[in-house]
Amino acid sequence: MPFDIAVGLSLAKNALDLVKAVREAHKQKKLTSEEMRDYLDTLQDKLVDVKTALSDADEEMRNLKRQLEEATRKADFGASFTSKHGVYWRDGFPYCPICWDNSRQTTRLSGPHPHILTDAGKYVWTCSIDKGHFPLPSKAVK
Ligand SMILES: [Zn+2]
Repeated sequence: MPFDIAVGLSLAKNALDLVKAVREAHKQKKLTSEEMRDYLDTLQDKLVDVKTALSDADEEMRNLKRQLEEATRKADFGASFTSKHGVYWRDGFPYCPICWDNSRQTTRLSGPHPHILTDAGKYVWTCSIDKGHFPLPSKAVK
């Protein structure tokens, strides 16, 4: 809920306006005890709503921070990719180009699978996420 902070601020302003009005009425001795109790009940309800709105906003902010940290971590990891033989490479290991290009997912390829040798003498590496097959020359892999 992206407007929780705005809602919380608006409710807090309403509560402060109410306090100001009650304070003025009390100064002029215009309030009965029952009216004062009603205003305090209303004020308490508004402050509970403020607390709820700010708590929701805090949870949303924590979720967004986690998402930002994860996106930053992935971007930092992918920044050191190099491209060769149709896949991405980092520290001598091949990474799935489909996963990275489509969703910025860093998926290390599995392999080589020695029982799947292509006609061109390449070894097949696979992606566990999208099941892609990537024939790579054996010399390419450290
Ligand atoms: Zn993949």
